[in-house]
Amino acid sequence: MKRLILELSGIVQGVGFRPFIYNLAHRLGLKGYVSNNLIGVNIDVQGDKDNLHTFLSVIKGQSPPLANIVFHSISWADKIINYSDFEIKESHTSNDRSQTLAIVSITPDIATCSDCLSELKDINDRRFGYPFINCTNCGPRLTILEDLPYDRQNTTMRRFNMCKVCQEEYEDVRSRRFHAQPNACQICGPHLSLYGKDRLLSEGERALKTTIEYLKEGAIISIKGIGGFHLCCDATNDYALRLLRKRKNRPLKPLAVMFRDIETIKSYGELSLREQALIGSKERPVTIINKKDITDLSEGIAPGLRKIGVILPYSPLHFLICEELSRPLVMTSANLGGEPIVKDNKEALEGLFGLSDYILLHNRDIINHCDDSVVKEINQTPLFIRRSRGYAAAPITLPISLNKKILAVGGNQKSVIALGQGNKAIASQYIGELDDVSAQARFREVIDRFLDMYSFIPDILVCDKHPHYYSTKWAKTNPYPSIGIQHHYAHALSLMADNGIDERGEILAVTWDGTGYGDDGNIWGGEFLLSSYHHFERLYHLDYFRLIGGEKAVKEPKRVALSLLLHIYGRPALEKDFLCLKSFSDIDRDILFTAWEKGINSPLCSSVGRIFDGAASLLNILGDYQEISYDGQCGMMMEDMYIPRLNDHYPYEIKDGKILWQGFISALIEDRSDKDIIVTRFINTLAKIVTNIAEEVGKPIGLSGGVFQNSVLTQKIIELGVKKGITILTHKNVPANDGGLFLGQLIYGGFNQTQN
Ligand code: ZN
Ligand code: ZN
Ligand code: FE
Repeated sequence: MKRLILELSGIVQGVGFRPFIYNLAHRLGLKGYVSNNLIGVNIDVQGDKDNLHTFLSVIKGQSPPLANIVFHSISWADKIINYSDFEIKESHTSNDRSQTLAIVSITPDIATCSDCLSELKDINDRRFGYPFINCTNCGPRLTILEDLPYDRQNTTMRRFNMCKVCQEEYEDVRSRRFHAQPNACQICGPHLSLYGKDRLLSEGERALKTTIEYLKEGAIISIKGIGGFHLCCDATNDYALRLLRKRKNRPLKPLAVMFRDIETIKSYGELSLREQALIGSKERPVTIINKKDITDLSEGIAPGLRKIGVILPYSPLHFLICEELSRPLVMTSANLGGEPIVKDNKEALEGLFGLSDYILLHNRDIINHCDDSVVKEINQTPLFIRRSRGYAAAPITLPISLNKKILAVGGNQKSVIALGQGNKAIASQYIGELDDVSAQARFREVIDRFLDMYSFIPDILVCDKHPHYYSTKWAKTNPYPSIGIQHHYAHALSLMADNGIDERGEILAVTWDGTGYGDDGNIWGGEFLLSSYHHFERLYHLDYFRLIGGEKAVKEPKRVALSLLLHIYGRPALEKDFLCLKSFSDIDRDILFTAWEKGINSPLCSSVGRIFDGAASLLNILGDYQEISYDGQCGMMMEDMYIPRLNDHYPYEIKDGKILWQGFISALIEDRSDKDIIVTRFINTLAKIVTNIAEEVGKPIGLSGGVFQNSVLTQKIIELGVKKGITILTHKNVPANDGGLFLGQLIYGGFNQTQN
């Protein structure tokens, strides 16, 4: 007779772990108990020594699908207790909460599992057609969670009293729904309501039927999902798409499309096996794939682009809709202007009728909003464009141990905040752009919620050095001590940590993006930073040019084009016959020239993102649109034009650490070839610059920053680099864009003291 005490952490709550232990203990004739606590799961078990060893090895080797176990402690106790049975005990909540983050993880929201799906379709099952079916292996988690530990009373399912049958399942360790916190059925659980502009139209099954009918007729409907509302309409209906774009004031930004199954997606796009696995994974991200040339999708889905974001149903409601609708469905986050995704019913009913004709909602409240995650395969590796639903708030392991508790507040675009302690980081869901007051409120809300859930009192706060970022201002007016890190150095550290580089490591980080505040007060974005966890040195950068009108130039690439022309030709550029300058009036040109010449509201900038914009404008790729309609638009359009088999590039010059773009931009202007050839040469030039500098410096290089979401540029760099034997690192678990800054900020906090 022996007694074993185990403390397990990792992802062990809300994933069917306790019933698994219970059943295992019974099978082996062991006695004792298992319970959830704030560090994870606690097991006290006694019995035959051999059986205890078997018990341990089964836990290690055959745990439930969603579990991810970390053994915190394993100890043999001397004293034998007179346990009469093995049982599952109630959760303890009285533990010391100061170590919670290091130990407990919140399970992300997981797509409906195949068992639930079969029941959903089985006419004899009591949950046949029930849009909120779930079990221990699937369903909402983070989005309904108010506090830890993950128990029903800490979720928004608290308000639903389980009926007798559901309660029995919940208490039955042999059931797939044993302690499935969101467990529910038609009798006791959440239900649907469909609203028209001024009234409730129908409820329950009828609401669903009517919604599908209206979608078929071309209506735009706001549908409440797992992490918020989506705007939905028939993706083959041009009229609906035009209307949706008009109402949303989003002329061009590509929209994600939901398809009923992977077979259907195959008839719309080219899929690699890896992409298929990604699309069908339990996280169900939007995956960006190459679209087939001829489909019945409306041109309005992704105007001017050959790529398309596809997603499979992930909630039972989606399955029911897609099955019945049997055509692709637009699925885009429902939000107003630059605001975050709408998550509450009241908010939806007050705000979304401007965008949609009907609203289909339900009464399971969402606590933590969660946009769909977005991934794209680059060089056979998935790259996060947005890490949110399905991934948040699963932990990220750090290659070094943080010596304090750190809150990283991210940047200003694609905001994500994170907590760090020991070798663990917990990143929030995607928050969005912090320019809007309601996004700023959401940012504060998310911070409060995460600090609260984990009882986390940060020793230090890390923010960007940009004085005007909302996150920076918030950090500075906060009671906790704070420290700022240069934007691109944060990208560099994020990439290093993402690749598990240890404390002695050093890389040449190529950090290319749209905008970041530089240490010299200029706008950086075309940087080569020799980086370690302790220090960076700016070895090379794109030569500066003026951004005429500052922020305005980000929206209007023709201002960048004008600036580049002025740098090359001086004032005579204004007299030349450039298409991109046509839409400026003569007066405008004079004003802009003066601004450029005197540097009035025209900061110096070394951004590769902006060089892409300028090149696109010089080549008149944007056509009639003089303003870009979404972030990264020029780069995406040029990516589509790229010709992979073409290897030529323009000449370029590097002098005193400055990459002189004047040479290759002049060559681009003078090139009379087809546009796609010019674009290819331009991108190849950038790739060539990276690999030649890498060769010169002789260090492993890393690619970080939003520009490297461009798959053809990244691929070309890898192709050239491999030939030269250069080690090239790219992102793995966090985005290359500003959504990955938090990781670099956490690491920086671990190595640096506060300045004040
Ligand atoms: Zn399930
Ligand atoms: Zn029930
Ligand atoms: Fe950035």
